[in-house]
Amino acid sequence: TTKQLIMSEKLAAIGEITAGVAHEINNPIAVMQGNLDVVRSVLAAESEGVATEFRLIDEQIHRISQIVTKLLQFAKPEEYAGYVERHAVADVVSDCLPLVQHLLNKGAIGVSREDAATRRILMNRTELQQVLVNLIVNAIHAMPDGGTLTLKSRDEDREGRRGVAIEVTDTGVGMTPDVLHRIFDPFFTTKRQGGTGLGLSISQTLVTRQGGSLTAESRPGAGTTFTIWLPEAD
Ligand code: ADP
Repeated sequence: TTKQLIMSEKLAAIGEITAGVAHEINNPIAVMQGNLDVVRSVLAAESEGVATEFRLIDEQIHRISQIVTKLLQFAKPEEYAGYVERHAVADVVSDCLPLVQHLLNKGAIGVSREDAATRRILMNRTELQQVLVNLIVNAIHAMPDGGTLTLKSRDEDREGRRGVAIEVTDTGVGMTPDVLHRIFDPFFTTKRQGGTGLGLSISQTLVTRQGGSLTAESRPGAGTTFTIWLPEAD
């Protein structure tokens, strides 16, 4: 659609600009982090009074470098993409769960799975895992009072193309239509702390690059379903 076209042009433009900027930011960050560590060890004895300040600086430097890493991944996907491979979807979903298990336990969130897909897909495994973990972590954030995370996969044809659909559903807070309209925009976030607003725009870029799609449906107060669709590997 036109909207997707405009969005992908927008993403490409942002990509070009940020690739350069992100590279330039990396060096000063490394210098700051190194010097902070030196100052902290020199002041070891006297630094107790400013322990909180040290921790805050440390955390914020870490946060900047996380944003830069995400931006680079986004801006120069070909450098980070690696290769594309065939694999069974259920295996990739299984690989994701240990990575988020501590969050599921802490959040009192149950997991329900339905692995019905029989077709294999073609996508870099790490990237697909990154997309799934992104969706799962967002789902967990949406269920602060606990709930159920449902992970489903099935064979599904779209517009005459054979493929696989993977659904990530939560029983969380859901989204209003105006939020839902903007979630794939780079830097759009409703999270006060720690949100970069890059997770979904990067995820959508990664899936679209493999000829697939990432879409969302949501009802405020009821929950949200994200659907990844990827073409079958032939
Ligand atoms: P971030 O998580 O850093 O905010 P994302 O691009 O991953 O960035 O998500 C953008 C926004 O989409 C979130 O801030 C949130 O408002 C909304 N969102 C994403 N997933 C969900 C979900 N499962 N339930 C409710 N809102 C969601």
